[in-house]
Amino acid sequence: MSRGTVCLTFDFDAISLWIARDQTTPGPVSRGEFGAYAIGRILTLLRRHGVSSTFFVPGHTLETYPAQCEAIAAAGHEIALHGYAHEPVSTLDRDAELAVNRRSAELIEKLTGRPPSGHRTPSWDFTENTIAILTELGVEYDSSLMGTDFEPYLARSGDRCDPDGPYAFGAASSVVELPVSWTLDDYPHLEFLRTARYVMPGLQDAGEMFARFRRDVEYMAGTVDDGVVTVTLHPQVVGRGARMVALEEFITGCLDLGVVFARCADVARRVRPALLGA
Ligand SMILES: [Zn+2]
Repeated sequence: MSRGTVCLTFDFDAISLWIARDQTTPGPVSRGEFGAYAIGRILTLLRRHGVSSTFFVPGHTLETYPAQCEAIAAAGHEIALHGYAHEPVSTLDRDAELAVNRRSAELIEKLTGRPPSGHRTPSWDFTENTIAILTELGVEYDSSLMGTDFEPYLARSGDRCDPDGPYAFGAASSVVELPVSWTLDDYPHLEFLRTARYVMPGLQDAGEMFARFRRDVEYMAGTVDDGVVTVTLHPQVVGRGARMVALEEFITGCLDLGVVFARCADVARRVRPALLGA
């Protein structure tokens, strides 16, 4: 029985996260800047433990921080789609969603020499056009939905929701879904955010957060053969001192459990034939 795989993913949103929130004054912008500042120490940590990761990078970050993105690619990590300026897909019509992804895909191809294999929407949601757009762009996997926890599946398109009857599931596509979860995302656990409408308290203890993440990994390793767990981190959140210490403990703890770390694209390619044949 395989103990399973951890996809340690980083959403390198940088300033685009704050653009999407309409917060472009120097304070919020500097929070985004910190993400770029922390890339070097994150790459050093990953190298120290031989961890291969996937970075979901908005086109805006690729153009604003080319040196950091080059360093990520040069270290052998995967770079995948994450909007241009972190646009929530629900705000985009079909042409705009295609344009945003095509523009960002061209930037990734310019950097890495090949088109992106993967995609994560900035809002962890799909439109009715998302699957068709990903298929048109040759994208092999997505990592935005939450239908399972440790078992990749094929994302559907054409679902219909009629509150007056049973939910109608659409057809499975050939796009592999590597599911995410808010429970495995550093942002709501750690980031303090105050807006006119709400306060997200964050600022939890990073060690406790990663201990919970590790219990999920332990559960997977003990109950699912060859499972996959996707962890979502943000350089501007996890890149600070105490959190980096806790991240390193999480990485070594996972290695002690006998799980492996892998890039999303490699996992998606490995599991896709069985899913398509199922
Ligand atoms: Zn993001």
